[in-house]
Amino acid sequence: MKKSANSVLTKKKPLEKRVLSANDIAELKKIIEDEIKEILSFNENNLKEIYNGNGLANENNISGNAFAFGSETENIHTSVMLAEHANRALRGNLNALKRINEGTYGLCPICVANNHETIKDKNDWEKVKNNPNNYISYQRLMAFPTAKYCIKHAKK
Ligand SMILES: [Zn+2]
Repeated sequence: MKKSANSVLTKKKPLEKRVLSANDIAELKKIIEDEIKEILSFNENNLKEIYNGNGLANENNISGNAFAFGSETENIHTSVMLAEHANRALRGNLNALKRINEGTYGLCPICVANNHETIKDKNDWEKVKNNPNNYISYQRLMAFPTAKYCIKHAKK
């Protein structure tokens, strides 16, 4: 029986594992660096909001009514939550940048451990880097540039 075109189109392809090229990594590095810049600029604006927009140092708030003080507390609470979220994202991106600089970016440490019992020297390390099965798929990294594990080994 002939396969219908439809069944080919709807069949899900597993995420392709391949050795990342220098170009792939340069492209992902750019995305990560842009994300870092964006987070730093967000943090700066968020801090300005805390200090200027609804700052505690505002005299009106000290003598002001309870409602105004309450909403200010609420704003600061929101700013703190946003800062925590931004800093988690910042940490993830900085760690990804560190892995790029170390030359381990894109490798899933669990796949590496499963595929290579010992890594003793430079030759072994070359084998690790040339084995497509050690890599997080390019598609996954484009969606999550800070991913540390392949889809199979990612914590659910
Ligand atoms: Zn893995």
